[in-house]
Amino acid sequence: YFVDSDAIGPDRVTIRGDDVHHIKNVLRMSPEDRLICCDGQGRDYLTEVESIGTDEVRCRIIDSSPSPGEPGVRVSVASSLPKGDKLEWVLQKGTELGADSFLPFTSARTVVKLDGKRAAKKQIRWQRIVKEAAEQSHRGRIPPVELPGNWRGLLEKFPSYDRVLFAYEKEGQSLADALKGAVGRRFLVVIGPEGGFTEAEAMEAASAGAVPVHLGPRILRAETAPLAILSCIFYSYGE
Ligand code: SAM
Repeated sequence: YFVDSDAIGPDRVTIRGDDVHHIKNVLRMSPEDRLICCDGQGRDYLTEVESIGTDEVRCRIIDSSPSPGEPGVRVSVASSLPKGDKLEWVLQKGTELGADSFLPFTSARTVVKLDGKRAAKKQIRWQRIVKEAAEQSHRGRIPPVELPGNWRGLLEKFPSYDRVLFAYEKEGQSLADALKGAVGRRFLVVIGPEGGFTEAEAMEAASAGAVPVHLGPRILRAETAPLAILSCIFYSYGE
């Protein structure tokens, strides 16, 4: 279970909220059962349940260690907002695979339009999906999902990464070659919408330092491409 940092004391973890119901009624845990809690920042706590109340579960800390579920290479995913609930698929599966964070954005051919209020509501739902996927896959961190930004804003973030991989079906080097030449362990993967990127965007991305990469002759859907790239990166780094 992911718990807030203020739930973790020197000797005890106190679990509150929806997880109490899950521990009591779904897992039917009892005192003395073992439970692993995670602070969401990469540290796991092996605990023993002491008491199960109506609103809280108190656990005694037996041991703590860095979460084994976190990859050593950090890969953020910037997806141009795909239609329907496809981003939710990217968030869930991307979290399971090991994505570090998600940066949805809009570009010239993005069809989906979200006003500020809807985007804020969506972000809460997206963050919940990511949290559940992180718990299920035993991650040590909950990858943050940013509010959707625009293309210009995304370009400005490129310098914070060691390597920006711009997924472009029209040209570029193979992903394998792009990874061979990579220095550093902080990647950003940039994926276009259903209609792809414009040539102007491809040029702007290259000028901002991105490496165009293609994934072979088959055109993948906007929600498949980031998952394929994540899998390849973690595979090639042995993570
Ligand atoms: N523009 C294309 C079209 O409409 O035929 C396809 C766009 S594709 C469905 C959506 C996004 O997935 C692309 O913008 C790109 O980022 C990524 N993508 C899909 N297949 C790819 C490939 N073979 N190589 C590199 N990127 C790919």
